[in-house]
Parts: sequence; structure tokens; C-alpha cells
Amino acid sequence: MIDYQNHTLAVDGVPLTQIADTFGTPCYVYSAAALTGAFEAYRSAFAGLDPLICFAVKANSNLSILQHFARLGAGFDIVSGGELARVLAAGSPADKVVFSGVGKSEAEMEMALQAGIHCFNVESVNELARLNAVAGRLGKRAPVSLRVNPDVDAKTHPYISTGLKDNKFGIAFDEARAVYKAAASLEHLDIVGIDCHIGSQLTDVSPLVDALDRLLVLIDQLAEDGIVLEHVDIGGGLGIRYTDETPPDIAAYAARVAERLAGRQLKLVMEPGRSLVGNAGVLLTRVEYLKLGQDKHFAIVDAAMNDLMRPSLYDAYHGIVPVTQKDGLAALTVDVVGPICESSDFLGKNRALAIEQGDLLAVLSAGAYGSTMSSNYNTRARAAEVLVEDGQPRLIRRRETLDELLANERELLKD
Ligand SMILES: *Cc1c(COP(=O)(O)O)cnc(C)c1O
Repeated sequence: MIDYQNHTLAVDGVPLTQIADTFGTPCYVYSAAALTGAFEAYRSAFAGLDPLICFAVKANSNLSILQHFARLGAGFDIVSGGELARVLAAGSPADKVVFSGVGKSEAEMEMALQAGIHCFNVESVNELARLNAVAGRLGKRAPVSLRVNPDVDAKTHPYISTGLKDNKFGIAFDEARAVYKAAASLEHLDIVGIDCHIGSQLTDVSPLVDALDRLLVLIDQLAEDGIVLEHVDIGGGLGIRYTDETPPDIAAYAARVAERLAGRQLKLVMEPGRSLVGNAGVLLTRVEYLKLGQDKHFAIVDAAMNDLMRPSLYDAYHGIVPVTQKDGLAALTVDVVGPICESSDFLGKNRALAIEQGDLLAVLSAGAYGSTMSSNYNTRARAAEVLVEDGQPRLIRRRETLDELLANERELLKD
């Protein structure tokens, strides 16, 4: 876990000062104990339902983190052929993988059919047709679940971003029954399930439960049509605490789900991402310069928007704390910014920090949608990643080298 020990922030007992000395900065640091704790919270809350908990790989796709979850018994929710390659490389059995996303290519479908994944979460009529054709060509049958858009009332739950009529995800609720009938007539598909995913960082589970209620209505209608589903996938979306949010109580959520699934022969699948990794990681960075202005002060750090994009992209808030607590040092109100040539390159604004130039900072809650959204903007090598397991830090992604960054272009230079 991540806490102060003798005034120094530590991950599973290892001081971040030591990690910075060994691996350099910027660097993502994860707690294996926190990953396990988050997974076990789901597993124990839903124990009575024996669910397939598919970690949403896009939240954090590092091979060692995927391996950690695979060893705990997790399945995986992927959104690309690249993510499939990752989960297989991490040792996950293919039959625990569900494949989401609106734009699956033929090559990706082939890859997933050859691997033998658990299920394709199909998001459109034309995707069904393509999948049927690809499966036919390979002499395979494709297991299919339709991602249904439950159109949960936005007025009561305005923060939902993917479960409403007017977005690109899923099949409209009103059309789903007809699409299922059409799907059932396609020769190379096995209709096995239904799924939805209505949004991310939800702090209230009511919309998730409302969405499940809508799916259950549809499931009963489909049974009347002779289409009997094996599983219901309730998606991901549970929020975490970045600052003062109250994250949903997983046990209370599980109780409401269990109540609804009681007496039904339906396997439960879910796709949590952020809530399994978000608070298990920090981004460790060093203050390169303190720049004190007349109106505003800046802490210019060695991490930037290319390392952690969420503040720039969504104006997301991440806690930022000094790695070493220094007694008697006055706090300064600073914007914590990176070296990138964009005004949007900030990690936090107006933070009161008792720091000096050269100090280490930890950007908190950076385990989800941090490293996976990183880029090479400004020709910056992507950060190293370290996993602390049983008090031992282990490098799980080497810092990129400049040679690696140039390689794909250097060979193509003209004389
Ligand atoms: C992103 C995503 C998830 C995970 O969402 P979180 O908010 O990180 O839990 C699950 N399912 C699908 C289809 C997704 O796109």
C-alpha cells in the first residue's frame, strides 16, 4: 500500500526515494498488494455469483500487471488485437477474454477466433455480418454477446458518458431484440450473452443497476423468442477516490446484482478497469525547477502530459504530494507543470506544496489510464514502470531509449 513511513512516501514499504535512485524519474510505481486487494474486493463481494472478472486492459496493459491479475484468476476485457497479444503474452488463457470495441478489424477478428476467446462483444449490425463472414472463412464459430445501449436516464445520472442513445457505443435498446433475431439466423455465430458498459468513474451504482434491470427485461423477451443467453456482462465503470469522491461500496453493488440474478441460470461477467488499478499506482517525478513569478509560481517537473495525459485531456484532478515531508518548510502555491511546449501541459494547478527544487513528487491515483495513454510527444521517451511485490521493487517496463524512438525512422533516411 502507499503511505508515509518516517516522513517518506513508500509503496509496500519501499521508500520512493530509493526507487527514484535505482530506476530514475519519471517512473510509474505500483503496489502489488494494492492490485491484489482491489481484485479481492470484487471477488469477495461477488463470491456468491462466481463471476468472471475481466480486467479492462486499456486501464493498464503492462505485461507484469496483466500477469499479476491472470494469476489471481482474472479474465480480461480487450479492445484491440494488440491487447489480445498482451494478455496472451502475460499467460492468460484465451477463453477468459472478452473483446469489446466498435471498430474491430477483420485481422483482429481472425486473431481472436484463432486464439479461441470467450466472447465478442458486438456493437453493430454490420459488425455481426463481418464477424459471421470471418468465422465462416476460418471454419469457426464465433461466440457473440451484443453490447446493448440501455439508454439510462441522463437526467438523474448526468455523468454517464457511454450509455446514452446519442453516442457511438452499443446497439440501441429498442432495436436489440430484432438484432438478436437477425444474429441468431447467422450461420457461424453462437449467441451466448448480452453486455453493456455505460460509463466510467461512476460514484453511484444506481445507473449500473438500472442498466442491468433493462438488460434483464430484454433477456426475458429473448427467451420468448427462443434465444437463451448464458451470460450477462455488466461492464465496468466503478469510480475511485481521486480527491473527495466517495467511491461506490462494491459489496452493496454486489448485493443488488445478486438480488436480480437470483434464480436465473445466468453466468455473471464484469469488466472493471480503473477500480482495479487506479489507486495502486503513482507517477514519481522530480522537480527540475522552481520558477517563482510575480503572480504565479511553477514547479517544473520531469514528468509531463505525455506521461500522464488525464489532467490535460479531461481536466482530471490527481493528488500531488511531496515524497519527503520536510518540517518547517513553508508551503508554496504552485502549478505543477511539465517541460512540454503546450500550456495544457500541467499535472496539477494551484497546489500548496512544501518543496524545494530537486525534490521528488508523487502524482497519486495514476495506476489507471496513466501509462497506457502515454505518448512520445516532444520526442520524450516513455517512463519506466516498477512493481513492488512483497517489499521488492522490480522493473516491469524499461524506460525507452532515444535510439528506440528514432529506430523506425532512421532506417528510412535518404543518404
Ligand atoms: C473502458 C471500458 C471498461 C472499463 O471501464 P472502467 O471505468 O475503467 O472500469 C469496461 N468495458 C468497456 C467496454 C470499456 O470500454
